[in-house]
Amino acid sequence: MTIDLHQLALATIDRAADELGLDGWVRALLHQPERVVTVQVPYTGDDGRIHVVAGYRVAHSTARGPAKGGTRFHPEVTPEEVMGLATLMSVKTAVMDLPLGGGKGGITIDPKLLSETELESLTRSYARAIASTIGPDIDVPAPDVNTDSRHMDWLADEYARVTGVASPAVVTGKSLAAGGSLGRDTATAAGCRTVLLASARRLGLPTDARVVIQGFGNAGAHLARLLAADGMRIVGISDSTGGIHDPAGLDVAAVARTKAAHGSVTHHDAEVVTNTELLALDAEILVPAALEGAVDTGEAEHVRARLVVEAANGPCTAAADDILAARGVAVVPDVLASAGGVTVSCFEWQQNLAGQRWSAATVADRLDTRMRAALEDVWQVAAARSLPLRTAATVLGVGRMAEALQARSGAETSELAS
Ligand code: NAD
Repeated sequence: MTIDLHQLALATIDRAADELGLDGWVRALLHQPERVVTVQVPYTGDDGRIHVVAGYRVAHSTARGPAKGGTRFHPEVTPEEVMGLATLMSVKTAVMDLPLGGGKGGITIDPKLLSETELESLTRSYARAIASTIGPDIDVPAPDVNTDSRHMDWLADEYARVTGVASPAVVTGKSLAAGGSLGRDTATAAGCRTVLLASARRLGLPTDARVVIQGFGNAGAHLARLLAADGMRIVGISDSTGGIHDPAGLDVAAVARTKAAHGSVTHHDAEVVTNTELLALDAEILVPAALEGAVDTGEAEHVRARLVVEAANGPCTAAADDILAARGVAVVPDVLASAGGVTVSCFEWQQNLAGQRWSAATVADRLDTRMRAALEDVWQVAAARSLPLRTAATVLGVGRMAEALQARSGAETSELAS
């Protein structure tokens, strides 16, 4: 990863802290993760040998509840990256007003080089190494890049074996059979749809607005399907191999079938465009749902959409953001637009703690309500302080964390402040 995520996260916190005029001690607490754990992760290879890699778990803040955040298996994972991602998770859970803090974990490894048996050995070893620092009331891991429900099921099982505490609430993103929530697979897309439709209404965009979606994976493909069913016209879609364009609107189900059959959306019967051209297509709404940093200054200059909705994490660089703002393009930031996943993760944790299973309709309804409320809160801060939506969202999240820290510090705070 080329961008320094930790520095970016701290700069984000500082900008909001300046806007809010926060005390130095609150800033210091928000800058420093509460807990950073580095662990050895020995695992057994198929060759019978023991290999050892490094793992991390960071709890950035538990001021508003147990730390919450994903687990990334990637060769470029560093402690700094995990700290940065944990910090951004604290902001995200606070923007969504979830009763949770922010955390993140990872292992520096390329999981694509491991067999299923090796992956299980690795994940169980990691679970043993971090077992004393996680728990339903302490820090609750979830999936992230290159991890899914299999890894979470192994983590929950190993945690129960090591601690004797058989609580499925120790991790989220589990399979349904192991206590996962209905609606988790489509949560990010469903949450993004809610804020996209509400933002489009606020901007007076037509109900059959033209939408371009970059990325046709878990977030992008589900979102394309949902928006097409809402009557929006999906005029551009892409994946890592390139994009397709049809000004009359693409048949999303047919594109999905083409991708399943041929591995790429570009085999679909439509005009083929590059990913750069895709971002400049004539449409009212652009949804980056692929990678961080996908929209930089060069792309931002050519965006023709009036509304950009960040389904991906960090798709617009800071410089691109400034250009989009200057050109009057509204950007619904990732901490809000991609928060459907962590929101349903929170629902999974709540269901596990209460020994309940909510219906798919209940999950969808509560997600919709939560996303609408957060969007409304962010627009209100933006209007009251004359801020772009991204800064407004950060101000909202950091403000909520600061309030919790101040409330919890009580008399000691007065001494610190004096
Ligand atoms: P995914 O791996 O399922 O899909 C990613 C898609 O992006 C694929 O279609 C891939 O072909 C495409 N892609 C990759 N490189 C590209 C490029 N250079 N140009 C265009 N397309 C490219 O991933 P996902 O789960 O859909 O996640 C996408 C983004 O959404 C990430 O930033 C992720 O952090 C964020 N996000 C996902 C979730 C979730 O629950 N899945 C939750 C929050 C945030």
